[in-house]
Amino acid sequence: GRAFSATVPGASRASSREVYLNFNESPWGPSAAARQAMEQGIALSGRYPYKYQYQLAALLARQLSIPEEHIEIYAGSKVALQQAVVAFTGSRSLVMATPSYEVPRLAAQAHGAVVHEVPLDSGHAHDIGAMLAVDPDLGAIYLCNPNNPTGTLTTLAQIERVLKEKPAGARVVVDEAYIHYCDAPSCVPLVKDHPDLLVLRTFSKIYGMAGARLGYAVGQPALLEKLNVLGEQNVAATSSLLGAIASLEDRALLAERKQTNARIRDESIAWFRDRGFTCTAAQGNFFMVDLRRPARAIAQALAQQGVHVARIWENWPNWIRITVGKDEEMARLRKAFALVALPAKP
Ligand code: PLP
Repeated sequence: GRAFSATVPGASRASSREVYLNFNESPWGPSAAARQAMEQGIALSGRYPYKYQYQLAALLARQLSIPEEHIEIYAGSKVALQQAVVAFTGSRSLVMATPSYEVPRLAAQAHGAVVHEVPLDSGHAHDIGAMLAVDPDLGAIYLCNPNNPTGTLTTLAQIERVLKEKPAGARVVVDEAYIHYCDAPSCVPLVKDHPDLLVLRTFSKIYGMAGARLGYAVGQPALLEKLNVLGEQNVAATSSLLGAIASLEDRALLAERKQTNARIRDESIAWFRDRGFTCTAAQGNFFMVDLRRPARAIAQALAQQGVHVARIWENWPNWIRITVGKDEEMARLRKAFALVALPAKP
């Protein structure tokens, strides 16, 4: 009702007819078990939740078959990524793909480090050879896998090549925010043999907890220590930690969400391909479509129909990125798209 909307900004959004396919969020939200655990977390919120943070790290360590000391929990993986970039660059540069997730570029620029942006290859994936050749004075190599916004994969063999051929002193940051959605192997098992490898993960995507702000970094202890650019790390929120533990204990959740996402994603991509559009080989919970004309106007027209797609990437001005929503949300997208953008221009 009105009183609720007045006290909680944006609370009316959930009940509105708008469809949000713009931030690669989960349309499913936290699992039922996670919601229950998060509610219990409210009552426990009078105390600092270190005990639950240690429990979560222990559970992750068990499930990933790695030592607990190789895990650091963060209130979202974004802050871990920002701190990693600040720690690893400075007089040394950052190399990353374009288009990719902008946060590492912004973090490097904010503290005056040089950023080398290397265009994706013809398959819309990381051009590893070009990235390795860019600068002998690299401090950090950022690989988003699958890549946001294209959803394309970098193979484990390519990541091993980067670790082998990178300039001495360069650190490799692999962002696995979307890895749970695809069949590609994680590079977490490489951490034990590679002191310069940092892997980032999050509960924001497949676990549906973007608003709870919880992620983690995997790396050898000396590397994790380097991320403490402000001294010791902050502790995460009680409800978020309990929700994450409940999510990890629900062993059916990942497989079920992965399967549903893949079905809806692949059906959606097929719909665009059937209408003559090229889509990226997307493996996450989003995909890009080449509209072959300025995408900004189409995105704005879709928004007017109540369907919100992602911002436009400056150097890919003809492409839109669409997050995979529920079946009914994708039906709304198709209807709006047919209205504003079909038939396709040759
Ligand atoms: N990394 C990538 C590639 C992302 O797309 C996002 C969020 O969209 C993040 C990290 C940040 O996630 P978090 O919610 O864990 O801070």
